[in-house]
Amino acid sequence: MMINENEVKYDVSKILPSVHAEKPSALRLRKPVIDLKRCDKTYRCVVYCPENAIKTGKDGFPSISYDKCDGCLICLRECPTTAIAEGQE
Ligand code: SF4
Repeated sequence: MMINENEVKYDVSKILPSVHAEKPSALRLRKPVIDLKRCDKTYRCVVYCPENAIKTGKDGFPSISYDKCDGCLICLRECPTTAIAEGQE
């Protein structure tokens, strides 16, 4: 099937990266959820988060900024106590 160049209104490959760069959370389909009862404060999630979305709160527990989080779930995989679970948006 031939695509008529005039019928293509949006080039998604050009739009998505710019949306992601401005706000990573805009494309998130899933999000990490921390169960603080299981957290041993190893801070691996803080160290490994590529978006710098996890900070340590005053109580010493990690806290996720969902404005920055892109849902990659690296934090979930790195947590040794499985304190981070996958949640839906
Ligand atoms: S899902 Fe990815 S971006 Fe979001 S807090 Fe975890 S490591 Fe950071």
